[in-house]
Amino acid sequence: MRPNVTVVRLGHRQQRDKRITSHLGLTARALGANHFVLCGDNDQGVLDTMTDVTENFGGDFSSEHHAKPMSYLRHFSKQGGTIVHLTMYGEPHDSVTKDIPTDTPIAVVVGGVKVPGEIYKLANHNVAVGHQPHSEVAALALFMSELMGGVAGPEQFPGARLQVQPHPSGKVVIDRNEDS
Ligand code: SAM
Repeated sequence: MRPNVTVVRLGHRQQRDKRITSHLGLTARALGANHFVLCGDNDQGVLDTMTDVTENFGGDFSSEHHAKPMSYLRHFSKQGGTIVHLTMYGEPHDSVTKDIPTDTPIAVVVGGVKVPGEIYKLANHNVAVGHQPHSEVAALALFMSELMGGVAGPEQFPGARLQVQPHPSGKVVIDRNEDS
């Protein structure tokens, strides 16, 4: 069974991070996460992007803004969820990911401009995707792929209006509304 995954984005800044946070949310969805929690600035544009893509391409992905990430994560932990913090200072993802229980909810925390020190203690796992600084999107993608067993996301997104047909030399998209 696929694990239930919430991706928690800390410290979003509406002006500077709009694109990368949108990419983070879309990557979370595409690779099989269920929920996205935006912390920092309450940026309706980012949340709307997720809603639009989910309406068109399907699945049950949802997103929300949360003003207090630490209280959100403490509550998540008390409810029995597992907190995974992606950080270059953590343990290598290819050795620790197999120890993460997949039968209870998982919150994957990615940092922004400043990550509160408490996160390192609250996390059940501090996980590194290599020990070089890079991007939250790259870290999330590689971690999610490992967590999901090496796949690049679910094959089916239920309720999709638009479906891409793989093609060697062009763009083929089936629009269910047009076909019915
Ligand atoms: N400046 C921030 C700081 O001092 O903590 C980090 C900025 S980094 C671009 C944003 C996020 O990407 C990090 O908080 C972490 O979640 C993720 N990240 C970057 N490199 C990583 C790595 N090698 N392994 C795991 N996560 C990484």
